[in-house]
Amino acid sequence: MDLKAHIRDIPDFPKPGILFRDITPLLSDPTALQYTIDLFAEQVAEYRPDYIVGIESRGFIFGMPLAYKLGVGFAPVRKPGKLPAAVHTASYALEYGTDTLELHQDAFPKGNRVLIIDDLIATGGTAAAAAKLVEQTGCTIAGYGFVIELVGLEGRTKLPDVPITVLLPY
Ligand code: AMP
Repeated sequence: MDLKAHIRDIPDFPKPGILFRDITPLLSDPTALQYTIDLFAEQVAEYRPDYIVGIESRGFIFGMPLAYKLGVGFAPVRKPGKLPAAVHTASYALEYGTDTLELHQDAFPKGNRVLIIDDLIATGGTAAAAAKLVEQTGCTIAGYGFVIELVGLEGRTKLPDVPITVLLPY
């Protein structure tokens, strides 16, 4: 199936010069959606994760059905101030300033294998920060899964040396 046909390109969103890869057409097509989750699950199953982390907010959309299909638990990585219990925090550099992500300290017991999921990897800062959070829980990174990779930005060079699944390279 041509999944790229279900990704919509929106120029200059959210700011001038950014070509936004919009996944909502893929989500709204029942066949494409089922195909995407099935293919994604098949590819990341070999990483044998004990838990899946989804990065706010589009990482939730893909991470949760994968956790369900693989029969493992799920934990959200969220923007600051959203998680109610004690959190680990990790900050990362943006073009201007920094951003922070949080994960519950008790999201998973020490020593487990955690798979990190997001819709898209661009510069890799977000995904690298998620790895720092998982490491603070005493768990290891089983791998990464992204629907889309913006290959030219070389974001994967910022990630730890673990296997990476990408469904749609651009
Ligand atoms: P980065 O930290 O640069 O790898 O950015 C990744 C995060 O920003 C992901 O959570 C994406 O959802 C979002 N993102 C970055 N660039 C784009 C883009 N061109 N289209 C859609 N989402 C993007």
